Amino acid sequence: MQTLEIKPVEYEHPQDGASCVAHAWARTPATPTADQRTALKARIKQLLVEREAVLVAHYYVDADLQDLAEETGGCVSDSLEMARFGRDHAARTLIVAGVRFMGETAKILSPEKRILMPDLDATCSLDLGCPVDEFTAFCDQHPDRTVVVYANTSAAVKARADWMVTSSIGLDIVKHLHAQGKKILWAPDKHLGGYIQKETGADMLLWQGSCLVHDEFKGVELDLLKEQYPDAKVLVHPESPANVVALADVVGSTTQIINAAVEMDADTFIVATDNGILHKMQAAAPGKKFIVAPTAGNSATCKSCAHCPWMAMNGLQNLADLLENMDTVTSNEIFVDAEIGQQAVVAINRMLDFAAAKKAKVQPGPDLGQEAQLFSGIGPA
Ligand code: SF4
Repeated sequence: MQTLEIKPVEYEHPQDGASCVAHAWARTPATPTADQRTALKARIKQLLVEREAVLVAHYYVDADLQDLAEETGGCVSDSLEMARFGRDHAARTLIVAGVRFMGETAKILSPEKRILMPDLDATCSLDLGCPVDEFTAFCDQHPDRTVVVYANTSAAVKARADWMVTSSIGLDIVKHLHAQGKKILWAPDKHLGGYIQKETGADMLLWQGSCLVHDEFKGVELDLLKEQYPDAKVLVHPESPANVVALADVVGSTTQIINAAVEMDADTFIVATDNGILHKMQAAAPGKKFIVAPTAGNSATCKSCAHCPWMAMNGLQNLADLLENMDTVTSNEIFVDAEIGQQAVVAINRMLDFAAAKKAKVQPGPDLGQEAQLFSGIGPA
């Protein structure tokens, strides 16, 4: 029986134009011993073959799961690439190590496949903070606006949207809609929405959600850290607050941040995103130094530990248990209502078609011109 720790989690829940603090929880598996790790990894490799399943993992999950995904022919990436990889892979069963909306997006793009997750209660503060009934009422109040939602939303919210976007291509899609004279209703991330609004000048009405990890990065402390490391480049995910984004050398999605670390001519980087990404960054750019951008510090609620408590719900033990029992288990399987899936896929495919029309070349904002070569992929969280 594995040991599990329940952590309280606080997040912002937008309400009536303002926001309140809401409460959730995350269930974190205990860290296995070295011997347990070795045994579990070997067992998972064997089970993936026996079950003819493929593991797709997000950059923010446990490093062992990322390694396992790569070593077994799966993938480690952002949520959109996870879904695209799963859709195009021959396996009939996808094991998604990430959070729930990623499993749902995989199911929407591959409705004929079985999508399983180590823990279906792994969620996201952006998803939690944008319930479909409240969001639908908001949209209904603004029928003149084109509804653009971020990938970090439920299937039902995507079904209510005209477009789904990721953090890198969102800028280009809003720019495109703005050029057509469209007014935008944006949800759920206020920081990413504010960043895109500033860069494009579009008329955007913003839902006031936030990512509880990125919301904790601190601009003043980051400025002080830059003084300590004057040669360091600052890489920031645009879910971070505006005063943190303002200090960035590169603003980009997870994939773009990793590419920047590889390609930029610098030895030291300060990174403002979930610290799970450091595993991939260190592997992709060995010899370079990575420093997590300052937060308010660790706390009892894990609010400021720069690591998503829900991503941390994916562990070796619950992955092995899932694979052992997957013939009978139903509590770990993602289901999306067929009608909602058919509506949601329209918003997702609009983005995919837009990206394909641009040959997936995402242009950076004007302040990022010198880093244009880095922006050659798309990816959400
Ligand atoms: S890191 Fe933030 S945006 Fe990503 S899943 Fe966790 S809460 Fe959601």
